[in-house]
Amino acid sequence: MIAVTEALGIKPCPFCGEYPMFWDEYDERFVSFTDRDDCRYYIECVNVGCACNPCTILFKTKEEAIEAWNKRVKETEE
Ligand SMILES: [Zn+2]
Repeated sequence: MIAVTEALGIKPCPFCGEYPMFWDEYDERFVSFTDRDDCRYYIECVNVGCACNPCTILFKTKEEAIEAWNKRVKETEE
C-alpha cells in the first residue's frame, strides 16, 4: 500500500471528503474487471464512515489510477 495521497495530487472521496488509499497490489476482487495481470494499482476509499466506498478498477500505472480516481462529472448548477 502506498501511503497517500494529497501529495500525489489525489482528490478526496466525493462522498465523504476523506482521502482514499492507494494500493499497489493485485486484488482477487478485480478478476472480472481485467485480464491484465500486470495491472495492480488502484485507489479506494476505505473510510468506515463513507456510505459508498468508491474504488477504481486496476491500472498498470499509478498515473492512470490517479487520473481515473480524479475524474469527476461536471455538476450543473441549479
Ligand atoms: Zn468515501
